[in-house]
Amino acid sequence: MFKTGGQGGGEQRAKVLVSRSLASTSNPQGMDQTVLTTTDHSRERAGLRYVYPVLSRRSRGLSVGVNLNPNNACNWRCVYCQVEGLRKGAAPSIDIVQLGEELEAFLGQVLRGDYLERHLPVGFQELRDIAISGNGEPTTAREFPEVIQAIARVRGSLGIGASVKTILITNGSQLHRPEVRQGIERLASLTGEVWFKVDRVTREGLWQVNRTRMSPERVERNLAMCAELCPTWIQTCMFSWDGAPPPEAEIEAYLEFLQRLWRQTVPLCGVLLYTVARPSAQPEARHLAPLTAEALCALADRICEVGLRVQVYP
Ligand code: SF4
Repeated sequence: MFKTGGQGGGEQRAKVLVSRSLASTSNPQGMDQTVLTTTDHSRERAGLRYVYPVLSRRSRGLSVGVNLNPNNACNWRCVYCQVEGLRKGAAPSIDIVQLGEELEAFLGQVLRGDYLERHLPVGFQELRDIAISGNGEPTTAREFPEVIQAIARVRGSLGIGASVKTILITNGSQLHRPEVRQGIERLASLTGEVWFKVDRVTREGLWQVNRTRMSPERVERNLAMCAELCPTWIQTCMFSWDGAPPPEAEIEAYLEFLQRLWRQTVPLCGVLLYTVARPSAQPEARHLAPLTAEALCALADRICEVGLRVQVYP
């Protein structure tokens, strides 16, 4: 639903990696025939350390994920987070060579092999994006700028054009670090987009939903910085808690936050409005339930009144 308001060097080894991953889930003919579904976001699907495929219901095609947090560590603990065994912390040291090799080999299979025909349903057999997203906050990786460079190299060597985006999915908490800003600025040149998580904008709300002590002022500052560096969407998840919708005071604070950004002419792409689609792996899971499509659309209408575009994913 869409609503509008206002505004390699290791090629040989890499081939081996993919062959092994394809064999690891083989059928009797030695060919993995598993068809991806929109509910399966397993990071282990390809048998690789950093790279995994996802069937994206949003873009109706293949999203190739880059997971910088194979240690399941994040600096936040969102109550709806689907990462099992999530723990507090940062991304581990990243093996940039391995990441580049995995990505090049996997994308090679997608672009030059029959991966799309074998693993995606008819109507979804297109590579849509490369998404830096995984089992924790990717920008906590010290090598984040090098990761962006590696993706740029692979895109270049495979001749991947502007129709395939590079998306960073982030909680935006690390924008104060110059190397993160440098990486995001470089991302913009790779048909880049940032999806910046903003679920709540009060201290209480940020603690209740994201389990972070980050101040609302910093969220606003970081978001504004990000939007100046690279096309940026706000990504917002709304859900009910013990059957009750988000408190009206939180919704009003959120709308005022958007209005301030709008008045300051922060160049936002718009809002991606979600609800919980898959079960949370956190202790709070039993309290959470999806918001209805009607409730999401009612909120989308209020966001449109601010002047921002909204895409709704019930
Ligand atoms: S920021 Fe993302 S990975 Fe981290 S806890 Fe929240 S949903 Fe999970």
